[in-house]
Amino acid sequence: MKTWKKRTKAVHTGTRRSQYNEVSEAIYMTQGFVYDSAEDAEARFIKAGEDEFIYARYGNPTVAMFEDRIAALEGAEDGFATASGMAAVNGALMSMLRAGDHVVSARALFGSCLYILEEILTRYGVEVTFVDGTDLAAWQAAIRPETKVVFFESISNPTLEVIDIVAVSKLAHAVDATVVIDNVFATPVYSDAIAQGADVVIYSATKHIDGQGRALGGVILGTREFIRGTVEPYMKHTGGSMSPFTAWVMLKGLETIDLRVRAQTESAQYLAEALEADGRLAEVIYPGLASHPQSALTKVQMEAGGTVLAIDAGSQAAAFKVLNALEIWTISNNLGDAKSIVTHPATTTHQRLSDDTKAVLGITPGLLRLSVGLEDADDLLSDLRAAMAQI
Ligand SMILES: *Cc1c(COP(=O)(O)O)cnc(C)c1O
Repeated sequence: MKTWKKRTKAVHTGTRRSQYNEVSEAIYMTQGFVYDSAEDAEARFIKAGEDEFIYARYGNPTVAMFEDRIAALEGAEDGFATASGMAAVNGALMSMLRAGDHVVSARALFGSCLYILEEILTRYGVEVTFVDGTDLAAWQAAIRPETKVVFFESISNPTLEVIDIVAVSKLAHAVDATVVIDNVFATPVYSDAIAQGADVVIYSATKHIDGQGRALGGVILGTREFIRGTVEPYMKHTGGSMSPFTAWVMLKGLETIDLRVRAQTESAQYLAEALEADGRLAEVIYPGLASHPQSALTKVQMEAGGTVLAIDAGSQAAAFKVLNALEIWTISNNLGDAKSIVTHPATTTHQRLSDDTKAVLGITPGLLRLSVGLEDADDLLSDLRAAMAQI
């Protein structure tokens, strides 16, 4: 099994069959489990075995199948599935940090990640230093002997900066800091983050793992010691676990993730090249374009540019005109979905930020984030071109 390629692992790893030998994974829709005797109950609370469960907040067979499958896909020893991507980010950080600890984080983050680091952790006495994630000298200057955690999104949302996992991990490991990566935009398909130096990898499963806009979910991946010794006690007592039904949806999502993400990435590359050549847009940002500042790093780190691109329509008024003229692209704020989705970050996902912060992060008034779905790429391009004609 260790030698299986990702596509094989995504279909088979983790499967636990019941006595009925079902083909599709069973949904064990139960919160609890029956013990054969009082002694059995006592023994399980002292130490539950590999396939012994106590309470769905602690673990469940369908959830365990999902955890094993995504861990195998990522090349991690173990994983803990969570109720949402944010439960995963919060759980990974809160379970290992305490008052007095120091964290260094990239500044360009998903809005809710920024809220945890800036507002919540600091409330509990954790000091957080923010840096420009693409600037290695800035990481080096900010990381101190007492730095406990280094946190970043390997591709930032929504401006698609690519951060050098190997280089930042080296700086972090020199002071024994734990490298925690929110890897949503890289996707499990293009990720090799653990081999590249990450200690902990987090996914919002809501995005490409489900990939069809149905359920919220997340997962924290790392060593068995970290997942079972640090994360699990925090998660099982604070209640952010994934539901068995969601785990089943995510297992089905993993079976097709490789095909979907590769097809969506191919379309994203095609659209980025066509829109750049079109010349009417102030900016086209896509890690797979030669014009992207980290295009060489992108090739080495993740092979392709991913499923999301960003364009600058020039002004908020122009961006809104484009949004309102689109017929196939839907205005929403999910990404990684089968449906192509367009978002105006400045007035939605990143509305909370001050104008100064938006400017520092490159979230201009005209910026649109395009999550490319599974539709025909030429239809998507025609729709964008017709909408751009409104500007
Ligand atoms: C969506 C997202 C999250 C949060 O995930 P939810 O499942 O919505 O809680 C965290 N980080 C990144 C980069 C995301 O895109």
